[in-house]
Amino acid sequence: MPRFDLHSHSTRSDGLLTPGELVARAAQRGVTTLALTDHDEVSGLSDAQAAAGIQGIALVNGVEISVTWNGHTLHVVGLHIDPESSELVKGLEQVRCGRRSRAESMASSLEQAGITGSLEGARSYAANPDLISRTHFARFLVECGHSRDVQAVFKKYLVTGRPGYVPHRWASLEQAVGWIRISGGMPVLAHPGRYKLDNSQREMLLTQFKDLGGVGVEVVTGSHTAAQFASWGRYARRFGLLASVGSDFHGPHESYRDLGDLPALPEGCMPIWASW
Ligand code: AMP
Ligand code: MN
Ligand code: MN
Ligand code: MN
Repeated sequence: MPRFDLHSHSTRSDGLLTPGELVARAAQRGVTTLALTDHDEVSGLSDAQAAAGIQGIALVNGVEISVTWNGHTLHVVGLHIDPESSELVKGLEQVRCGRRSRAESMASSLEQAGITGSLEGARSYAANPDLISRTHFARFLVECGHSRDVQAVFKKYLVTGRPGYVPHRWASLEQAVGWIRISGGMPVLAHPGRYKLDNSQREMLLTQFKDLGGVGVEVVTGSHTAAQFASWGRYARRFGLLASVGSDFHGPHESYRDLGDLPALPEGCMPIWASW
C-alpha cells in the first residue's frame, strides 16, 4: 500500500532528526513517499535523497516558505522543486537573511523581559546557523525552566503580544509561489486551518493563491482536526485545488503526529500525487 507524507522537517531547519535519520524513520513506519520540506532551506535534500535510495522509498524534493500576506504569516510548501533553481536559491537566501536580524531582535526583546543569553541559547539548538527559528528559542526556554514544554513556551513567550514575539516581514505570496513554480515545483498552501482568518479572508486567500499559480492545499495535516479535514476538503474541491497530506513532523515527542500517521483524504478530493 502506498503511504504519502508530504510535509516534514530535519535539523537543516527546526526538526530534531538529520535528513538521513528522518528518511530511515519514515521507511520504518511504512511511508513510501516522503517530502522533506524544511523552512526556507533546501540543503538537506541531497542527504535525504541518498538515504531514500538506501531505504528504498521515494523522496520528494520540498521546501516550506514563510510568507507575509495581509499582515498574516502563512506557509507555502513547494513539492518537486528543483533545489538548484537560481531564482529559488536566491529567494530563500533573502528569507534566511531576514531570520538572522529577527533572532537578534527576539533575543533583545526577551532580555527586556529578564531572560538573558537566549540568542546563544537558541543558536546552540540550531544545527544550521542560517536557520534560527522560534522553535530553537522555545527549546532553549524549556531547558532554562521557563515553561514545561515547547507548546507552553510558545503561548507564554513566542506568539503575538508576548515578550519574545517580533513582527517580521517574510516573502510575499507572489514571490513564494513564483519561486516554487519557476523551479518546476507545485505550490501547496500549508496547514490552512492554523491561520486566524475569517470566511471572506479565506476566500480571498484561496482566490489569490490559485490566481498566482498555487495548485494544492493541505487537507490532512498534523494540526487539523477531523472537522477541518472535511471543511478543507470542501475548499479544495470548490477552488479546484489538489489535496495534500503531511504530518509536519519535527521530531519524536514534539509533533502532533508521527511520520505517516495520517488518515485518508476525504471523499471527492483529488490527491496531489494523482499525476506523479
Ligand atoms: P518561525 O518560522 O521561526 O516563526 O517558527 C515557526 C515554527 O514554530 C513552526 O514551523 C512550528 O514548528 C513552531 N511553532 C509555531 N507555533 C507553535 C506552537 N504554538 N507550538 C509549538 N510549535 C509552534
Ligand atoms: Mn517548524
Ligand atoms: Mn508551517
Ligand atoms: Mn512545517
